[in-house]
Amino acid sequence: MALMTKEQYIESLRALNTQVYSFGKKVENWVDDPIIRPSINCMAMTYELAQQPEYEDLMTATSALSGKKINRFAHLHQSTDDLRKKVKMQRLLGQKTASCFQRCVGMDAFNAVFSTTYEIDEKYGTKYHENFKNYVKYIEEKDFVVDGAMTDPKGDRGLPPHLQKDPDLFVRIVERRPDGIVVCGAKAHQTGSINSHEHLIMPTISMTEADKDYAVSFAIQSDAEGVFMIYGRQSCDTRKLEGGEGIDTGNKEFGGQEALVVFDHVFVPNDRIFMCGEWDFSGMLVERFAGYHRQSYGGCKVGVGDVLIGAAAVAADYNGAQKASHIKDKLIEMTHLNETLFCCGIACSAEGHQTKAGNYQIDLLLANVCKQNVTRFPYEIVRLAEDIAGGLVVTMPSEADFNSDVKVPTVSGLTVGDYCKKYFVGNGNVPVENRQKILRFIENLCLGAAAVGYRTESLHGAGSPQAQRIMISRQGNLPMKKELAKKLAGIVE
Ligand code: SF4
Ligand code: FE
Repeated sequence: MALMTKEQYIESLRALNTQVYSFGKKVENWVDDPIIRPSINCMAMTYELAQQPEYEDLMTATSALSGKKINRFAHLHQSTDDLRKKVKMQRLLGQKTASCFQRCVGMDAFNAVFSTTYEIDEKYGTKYHENFKNYVKYIEEKDFVVDGAMTDPKGDRGLPPHLQKDPDLFVRIVERRPDGIVVCGAKAHQTGSINSHEHLIMPTISMTEADKDYAVSFAIQSDAEGVFMIYGRQSCDTRKLEGGEGIDTGNKEFGGQEALVVFDHVFVPNDRIFMCGEWDFSGMLVERFAGYHRQSYGGCKVGVGDVLIGAAAVAADYNGAQKASHIKDKLIEMTHLNETLFCCGIACSAEGHQTKAGNYQIDLLLANVCKQNVTRFPYEIVRLAEDIAGGLVVTMPSEADFNSDVKVPTVSGLTVGDYCKKYFVGNGNVPVENRQKILRFIENLCLGAAAVGYRTESLHGAGSPQAQRIMISRQGNLPMKKELAKKLAGIVE
């Protein structure tokens, strides 16, 4: 099949029987659910842009397995050029959606599982790499979305998987059969889980032999028996139910999506298993997936940052403050921070190398430095955006108030809407409604629904800050640096 169009993608979701729960109820038609739909539109953008000739080079690639044209989100990177294009593609999508467009977790999982299965087979003579290659071919052919799923709920963080009071707090094998395995457990805050066709499960930490049953990687259809999802709510999410023009949602069309994905005695056939007890490779898989996803943040968050910088500048224009030197300086600082993140994404790509399996991997140290910066700079960018926009971002009356024709018993006899428009005017050349829209948009990005995918996800997505610091300490080669210093200082020990 050729690349799916945006419409075909949305229709393909309707064919799935994915079990979704939200606000305490089962959601039967989740494709058209007003709270979930923006995240589907966002994912659909990865299909829409792939159809446009001007983005063909970034959005599509030639499959290393079939030689056919595929969506880059299903691609096994074949060069450092591919790695750079990946980051640029993510920046583009961040610019077009100002949200988390979700499809990257699958791409990052593909590349990590591809190289790790090769090395497991090399050591143990297993057939996981062959299984995985066949799986990738199938996904490429269908142009499906695969949700790469790593993060287990983890329970008591001080205990390994096998010592948890509830053994399901990490995904595990509960039964081994001749034709496959049965698994139980869950993946938490799972990006893009509901609107993906498939899930690719990986372990979340490096393990010991005692955790053998938890060292498992496999693919499963999103609507397989025993799989269900509980939707994660977002700040201001019920504003999507308020009707009107949707001004108070800030970003009417797009949004991210996270859910708890539960596996309750799910059968996985042998040909969809990519790790089954090889605990000594769980660390490698985690490190590689996390590395790719930390690179990703040097693209997606930069694209969203571009939009936020633009929004802050528009708010300054509407306030009539655009000429103030401190405003100009704040916009420069935001740009400097944002481009620094992009530099990190490009640098870890340019310094990438080929794995034993043949695909390309980023430089792990630089990818972790990239993500560590992402845990900080978007917070400063958000602070500056809120500074420029002003307090009205969090004090403005609702769209319904602006539209209200309820008369206030005053001498002027104006309506509530009249008063809103009178007192929230900025630069007189701009309709008040535009000011409303840009301030709500900034609110959405800084502390509303999109803040999940921009601000807080910058901190915790692809691993919380400490996870990168551990990798930076492992990869930083301190002994070599000490030797450099000793040599130049003339120290002979
Ligand atoms: Fe992609 Fe960024 Fe969302 Fe991760 S956080 S899935 S890299 S858009
Ligand atoms: Fe993420």
